[in-house]
Amino acid sequence: MTLDLPTAFRIRDIRDESPTVRTFTLDGAVQAEPGQFVMVWLPRVNEKPFSLVDDAPITLTIARVGPFTEAAHRLRVGDRLWLRGPYGRGFERLARPAVLVAGGYGAAPLAFLARRLRAEGVEVAVALGAKRACDLVLAERFRDAGCSVHLATEDGSLGHRGLATDVAARLLDANPDAALYACGPEAMLQRLAHLCRERGVPGQFSMERMMKCGLGVCGSCDHHGLLVCRDGPVFSADQVLGARGDFPSPCGRA
Ligand SMILES: Cc1cc2nc3c(=O)[nH]c(=O)nc-3n(C[C@H](O)[C@H](O)[C@H](O)COP(=O)(O)OP(=O)(O)OC[C@H]3O[C@@H](n4cnc5c(N)ncnc54)[C@H](O)[C@@H]3O)c2cc1C
Repeated sequence: MTLDLPTAFRIRDIRDESPTVRTFTLDGAVQAEPGQFVMVWLPRVNEKPFSLVDDAPITLTIARVGPFTEAAHRLRVGDRLWLRGPYGRGFERLARPAVLVAGGYGAAPLAFLARRLRAEGVEVAVALGAKRACDLVLAERFRDAGCSVHLATEDGSLGHRGLATDVAARLLDANPDAALYACGPEAMLQRLAHLCRERGVPGQFSMERMMKCGLGVCGSCDHHGLLVCRDGPVFSADQVLGARGDFPSPCGRA
């Protein structure tokens, strides 16, 4: 089911993933591909895009970073929020072993992807990175889906001390035939896109840009003629790196 107009759902469950990230399970379903997103509307607050962690029931993982997400974190079980979508181009699932690389709440669309890949019998290894152990999110979801999970923290409080990209390189050493799928901070995506190019590994990368309509109309998420909402949010390594070898980030996170 696709929602053309904002449609109300009630929150059925809220789970704290980290000090700043919560997962909301809603009382309904849509039909979506991993990597697609929905526009979430809170009346008198705003409307913002969020990746689907699952489509049945609809599940969203929301990091508290500003006014909209602060309002979302104030919601309680039984409260309503309004959704339209799903929108965008999701991940194309390849019949190869998969290496998934997630930075912070970038784990959200990858958890959905992991579940679908595992259901199709694909072997999935996940590199999950964050600043500190308490910032790692959704590790249990990946484990429950039957993935091997490899953690990285910048402060070394759990798993590899360093970046998820270091772990990803090791996983690709062990699985040279793998396909890579990633979501997280822009610097991480660029590094991984270079890695894919160097090694001839097929890579798909979910990117973020400021978005207003989510439908390909307003143009606020334009990147060199590509719209992140309509042509993405999942892009190839070449699209991430762009013609000049880097991906300008006019309003993005480093
Ligand atoms: C396709 C897509 C999927 C997303 N999925 C998720 C998700 O699953 N979970 C989640 O927590 N967030 C997700 N986001 C990001 C979320 O929509 C934004 O963080 C949102 O703007 C938060 O609203 P806010 O009012 O709380 O904070 P804002 O005031 O909008 O933003 C707070 C800070 O984050 C920066 N910022 C916000 N949005 C973006 C962006 N799109 N690109 C670059 N910088 C930005 C702003 O510059 C500001 O510094 C997604 C974004 C996109 C485009």
